[in-house]
Amino acid sequence: MRIAIIGAGIVGVTTAYELALAGHEVSVFEQRGSVAAEGSFASAGLLASSSIAPWCGPGVPWRVLRQAFSRQASARLGSVGALAQCPWLWRAWRAGRPAALQAHRAAMHRLAQFSRQRLLELTQALRLEFEQAPGHLLLLRTAAEVQAVQPLLRLLTEAGVTHELADADRCRVIEPGLNEALALKAGVHFAQDGVGNCRQFAHLLKTEAQRLGASFFFEAPVQGITPGAPVMLQRAGHSPEAFDAAVLCAGAAAAPLLARAGVKLPLQAVHGYSMTAPLRHVDGLAAPGPRAAITDARHRISITRLGQRVRVAGVAELGGRPDHLALGSLRLLHRVLDECFPGAALTQKAQHWKGARPVLPDGPPVLGASGAPGVWLNLGHGDHGWTLACGSARVLAETLSGREPPLDATNLTIARLQR
Ligand SMILES: Cc1cc2nc3c(=O)[nH]c(=O)nc-3n(C[C@H](O)[C@H](O)[C@H](O)COP(=O)(O)OP(=O)(O)OC[C@H]3O[C@@H](n4cnc5c(N)ncnc54)[C@H](O)[C@@H]3O)c2cc1C
Repeated sequence: MRIAIIGAGIVGVTTAYELALAGHEVSVFEQRGSVAAEGSFASAGLLASSSIAPWCGPGVPWRVLRQAFSRQASARLGSVGALAQCPWLWRAWRAGRPAALQAHRAAMHRLAQFSRQRLLELTQALRLEFEQAPGHLLLLRTAAEVQAVQPLLRLLTEAGVTHELADADRCRVIEPGLNEALALKAGVHFAQDGVGNCRQFAHLLKTEAQRLGASFFFEAPVQGITPGAPVMLQRAGHSPEAFDAAVLCAGAAAAPLLARAGVKLPLQAVHGYSMTAPLRHVDGLAAPGPRAAITDARHRISITRLGQRVRVAGVAELGGRPDHLALGSLRLLHRVLDECFPGAALTQKAQHWKGARPVLPDGPPVLGASGAPGVWLNLGHGDHGWTLACGSARVLAETLSGREPPLDATNLTIARLQR
């Protein structure tokens, strides 16, 4: 089949690879000048195959509203205009009720485990070399945080997910660079999680997709998709182009294309921030920064090790401008790094970034047919696009090729959002 992919973030690149591997003629259209230039650019790099959870877990919508305009809040509204997102938050709140949450968490977990396996297969088979490190420690600073994490621990145990509830001493063995003065109650260690450089991986896999015959077109914004057989793609300055299928991998920017194609999807851009700085070296030795990945449960901020650099990422800002970096949010990232690993990074050389997570109100992405003829979706990966990309691409490619999906795809199709 002749297939167009719109968007070359981590989701578009992995999709291009899997579809080319399945023998299709693949063309990727990306509005920016390279792959992984938007939401996939400087994410934390956490591969959260065990600790994955819907972005809108219990309490998150309330937290956003309660802290609506607080400058250093980890979840807030980006502007007064963002109050228009209240219906979306209401939908997210409903999806966070126990029975629904459990089903969505299970769907995400199945996909994340499958994705982990596919990432490993690709890394080994194609000998991809990118910055990575195993392990993820969720830090619990207070007894209240330990208490709050109990339902999650029960779910993990029931689902057979490998994890270890570690006391403070054990946390310091797992991550020896942790600040000795940090008041720490406990931690949950996910040995099967890890950290990997998403952008590096996307560049490597793009080359492999090209080897299989996929073509990439950069500075090539798609303006419209007309469903049908064939499906038509409209680009500025070009006549409409015909394809057998178009796969929308446009991340948080997919909304206008979806609307023009007549597809309804409650996709919301939730902005986040990251700060990346080189590790400090003293007498030629790296300062004791993180070994792999740490998440501070209090602020939902992750600190990860990417080669000789440290990255701190988090904050959920609903609405607001993508090009306006809020000082309060950046200060929060610096503060958490300083509390956990004081002096470990050369923060005066830090690079700051703001990116958009493409979030659906209930958590899992939408993979498969959109309902509009010829239009397919690989969208809405939220906080976990890197974790889920390799598995999602495989599921999409198998389904589009007319084969059974390689895992139970319950709650991964658009049908769940149309009920
Ligand atoms: C601060 C932060 C930290 C994060 N940390 C993690 C993490 O640790 N682990 C994890 O798994 N995930 C993480 N995420 C989430 C992850 O980054 C996203 O889920 C993922 O990047 C989404 O990938 P994507 O390919 O769908 O979107 P994108 O990477 O945004 O790609 C979409 C592409 O489509 C292109 N596009 C859009 N519209 C058009 C058009 N009309 N024509 C042509 N091209 C178009 C865009 O230019 C873009 O390149 C984080 C996100 C943020 C913001």
